Amino acid sequence: MDFQLSDEQQLFQATIREFADKEIRPVAREWEAEGRYPHEIVDKMKELGLFGLTVPEEYGGLAVDMVSFSIVFEELARAWMGVAGILGSHSLAAHMIAQHGTEEQKRRHLPALATGERRTAIALTEPDAGSDLQGITTRATRDGDEYVVTGTKFWITNARFADPLPVLVKTDPAAAPAHTGMSVLLVDADTPGYSVSRDIPKLGYKGPESAEVVLDDARVPVENLLGGVEGQGFKQVMGGLEVGRINVAARSVGIAQESYEQALKYAGEREAFGKPINQFQAIQLKLAEMATRTQSARLMTWWAASRADAGQSANMESSMAKYHGSEAAIANALDSMRVHGGAGYSKEFDVERLYRDAPLMAIGEGTNDILKMVIARQLTGGKGRIG
Ligand SMILES: Cc1cc2nc3c(=O)[nH]c(=O)nc-3n(C[C@H](O)[C@H](O)[C@H](O)COP(=O)(O)OP(=O)(O)OC[C@H]3O[C@@H](n4cnc5c(N)ncnc54)[C@H](O)[C@@H]3O)c2cc1C
Repeated sequence: MDFQLSDEQQLFQATIREFADKEIRPVAREWEAEGRYPHEIVDKMKELGLFGLTVPEEYGGLAVDMVSFSIVFEELARAWMGVAGILGSHSLAAHMIAQHGTEEQKRRHLPALATGERRTAIALTEPDAGSDLQGITTRATRDGDEYVVTGTKFWITNARFADPLPVLVKTDPAAAPAHTGMSVLLVDADTPGYSVSRDIPKLGYKGPESAEVVLDDARVPVENLLGGVEGQGFKQVMGGLEVGRINVAARSVGIAQESYEQALKYAGEREAFGKPINQFQAIQLKLAEMATRTQSARLMTWWAASRADAGQSANMESSMAKYHGSEAAIANALDSMRVHGGAGYSKEFDVERLYRDAPLMAIGEGTNDILKMVIARQLTGGKGRIG
């Protein structure tokens, strides 16, 4: 075990880092502050093939290993976490379609999703159900060759660009346990009765929109049922969330790394009491803590990703990586702000954006408390020995 990326992974990392430094970093502060959608960056990501990260090669994708996948999200998030968000739910949903779609669904959607010609997202959360996904009320009632779908989805990132949008519904609301009555429908953007009703104002994560989606007697053809069999939706989504947690863990590493690097640089330049502030032990302790948190979060992310690459379940590992990484991101963003003094509170530095973006890492793809419960369930269910 040498904890090194392979030559190929290092080359991939260098390519994505160069792209992020050249195309994203220079515009991030201004565009984020303006709330501007980064169409130009999206076009460049298409050229790099990044919308096909999780799409199998036979459908035109890159099908990268999960460690390389995590490298993309770390590098993008270092420059601007919001841009990583544009790829995040797209990659998760494309993975889900590749894993569980019928052959017809894969042929219909994956080639266009791989190039970014069409994009996708994932609609799980509702105004009254987030952690408790089995408590959703969006209902799909069969009517001949169609489902009639009614309900509201909330916080759906990338919804305005999603075609199709995979939507978690109840096809059998009376099923017990509830998850056996849940299915995913691939809803085409031009479906009558389907609309993206509003963008939800948010603290950070600017760039991509997070929106409310309304299904008002939307008529969805039966052939759009993911995998063609009712009652599989909850399982399909949970499998996808494993990929989603590795993605969020990696974004967290990016925020933690950038917060640390900004602090290191500033502490070398800023002088107080006649010397650079990096000469004060209080600042040195913060830098040491930030670097240690970042590296431990990165190694955990690669560990979880490697398990997924080996074809093993990474449910507990990806939960640990996401929980630990997001706490590292939050702590580093705040410590970086402290190292920057008043400058850290200024819109003229990037630290305030990192500080606003970091907390989402502890919410998306399962709140950290929910993930701790996932971890604990595995520990008490027989996986108690972890070392
Ligand atoms: C910017 C943003 C983007 C998002 N993008 C998407 C998206 O693209 N698609 C999508 O489907 N969703 C998306 N979400 C929704 C996100 O996944 C949910 O917000 C998250 O899962 C939490 O659900 P909730 O907001 O309903 O909180 P709740 O479930 O109401 O939780 C509130 C609090 O209660 C705690 N809690 C709940 N149940 C328990 C329990 N059993 N034990 C202990 N504590 C508990 C939670 O940990 C949390 O602290 C996004 C959210 C945000 C903020």
